[in-house]
Amino acid sequence: MIKIRTPDEVELIRESGRVLAESLDLAEELIGAGVTTEFLDREIENFIVSNGGVPEFKGFHGYPAATCVSINDQVVHGIPGPRELREGDIVGVDVGVRKNGYIADAARTFAVGTVTDEAQRLLRTTSLALDAGLAAVVHGVHLSDVSHAIQSVAEGAGYSVVRELAGHGLGTELHEPPEIPNYGPPGLGPILATGMILAIEPMVNAGSGAVRTLQDGWTVVTADNGLSAHFEHTVAVTERGADVLSAASLEHVDRSGRD
Ligand code: MG
Repeated sequence: MIKIRTPDEVELIRESGRVLAESLDLAEELIGAGVTTEFLDREIENFIVSNGGVPEFKGFHGYPAATCVSINDQVVHGIPGPRELREGDIVGVDVGVRKNGYIADAARTFAVGTVTDEAQRLLRTTSLALDAGLAAVVHGVHLSDVSHAIQSVAEGAGYSVVRELAGHGLGTELHEPPEIPNYGPPGLGPILATGMILAIEPMVNAGSGAVRTLQDGWTVVTADNGLSAHFEHTVAVTERGADVLSAASLEHVDRSGRD
């Protein structure tokens, strides 16, 4: 069953999402050559806690940090540590915030200084794939319409989506139904309804979509060591489209012109 959240619950998730978005803005400010991923993690955790939140990832199935920081061929779930970012890296920062019992989950991938044109194109495409997924969300459509929109953008640019990992519902738990694959034909799966909360998160690889997990039990890397990017938002389904809850300000996908 996919939970339907009340308007009051949606506003609580939006507040968690606001803290989260601001923590990602902070990450963007801090990221640069020579910065360690554990420094980023500590600063983000401090920001979340000082804004009344709890870093939801910490302790989740034993995960040891507040954030996941994934560099270059790392797809997701990179564990922060002493590694220093270098000029030309791309770095994904994924954060979960629980505040007042309600959770938001979001991620962005950043360039460290100047990156190659190919890395820049991968970041841009993955962000556009997320936008396409968000634009497909509206009360009454099938879940796989969202999946298909994401896949179309990623593969249309010559890239691959990671098929072993997916977006998800969330709210009072980090992972709730439904699972949201980043690929598939349109017109399948549950019908989206107002009040559903979805974390939509394309993970796009420059080469093959195949991945493997490192011996730390967490870090997912591309099987071919090519670059990977990840963008994620938490949204509420509405009659007018996706209401982006993990946005710092007025970012909102409005489909009012659609009908
Ligand atoms: Mg997620």
